[in-house]
Amino acid sequence: NNTLLSVKDLKRYFDLGKESTLKAVDGISFDIKRGETFGLVGESGCGKSTAGRTIMGLYQSTDGTVEYDGVDIHKMSEKERFGYLRNMQMIFQDPYASLNPRSTVFEIIAEPMQVHGLYKDKKELQARVHQLLEDVGLNRDHANRYPHEFSGGQRQRIGIARALSLDPDFIIADEPISALDVSVQAQVVKLLQKLQKEKGLTYLFIAHDLSMVKYISDRIAVMYLGHMVELTTSDRLYENPLHPYTSALLSAIPIPDPDIEEARERIILEGELPSPINPPSGCVFRTRCPHAMAVCAEQVPVWQEQEPGHFVACHLYQ
Ligand code: SF4
Ligand code: MG
Repeated sequence: NNTLLSVKDLKRYFDLGKESTLKAVDGISFDIKRGETFGLVGESGCGKSTAGRTIMGLYQSTDGTVEYDGVDIHKMSEKERFGYLRNMQMIFQDPYASLNPRSTVFEIIAEPMQVHGLYKDKKELQARVHQLLEDVGLNRDHANRYPHEFSGGQRQRIGIARALSLDPDFIIADEPISALDVSVQAQVVKLLQKLQKEKGLTYLFIAHDLSMVKYISDRIAVMYLGHMVELTTSDRLYENPLHPYTSALLSAIPIPDPDIEEARERIILEGELPSPINPPSGCVFRTRCPHAMAVCAEQVPVWQEQEPGHFVACHLYQ
């Protein structure tokens, strides 16, 4: 079976009291294939991080299913769950906040392995940490230093080494390069690609814009206000975006794309991102959509396969 992760109609609501509910993730579905990099893109507040955390099991889902290797993660026994969490690791946006400042790099990278009772022999553990440091482009001399002694890019490498320590199959990278300088971003992306090849990793790569995601993702899903609005291969998304929100995101990429002959006309979205507590009726994007029609306020657009492998939810195509 080629599918590693299968997400079906996943919902994650937060009860805010006084009968108000924040629908952070409101029914998203996708499969991720083994060895694939799947990009999940949308503005901050669209629910992409919540989706990642719900898939990780850090949040209980409100509805829907997450299957990993054919097993529903919310129906797992404690033991299955332990193994699941070993196979699945997360890399975070802010490597500094996610690394304990009082721990040495050695302690940071060794900790997950110690929790899981691996490499009980001290020499073996040390060799393993040194190997992981080399895998991410650092060296063994870094092991006894503290996070504050490193640059942002190096700290992200430490975070990646820690995530790799349990030899996972699947990594959720939640905006792993957003906090880094552009030049460093490319280096970290290259490192992630190299590690993917070497270790056969599958990635869910979460980002707030489309600029770097194109180069790393095989397929991309675009989210808006808790909903998925478009999903297709990364090439196709760039060449032929169908959803007006995707077009707006693409037009916001500042660096001209050499693969595209004419510069895209910048589409400025009017208005603010609506509150997910009180989302617009019909299409959630309609309050900012340049193509909104009467039907868009009345009916929720159906998620449909417009062309093979290219899904969109928009009344322009219905
Ligand atoms: Fe715009 Fe209507 Fe399509 Fe929503 S359904 S994206 S409002 S055209
Ligand atoms: Mg986020």
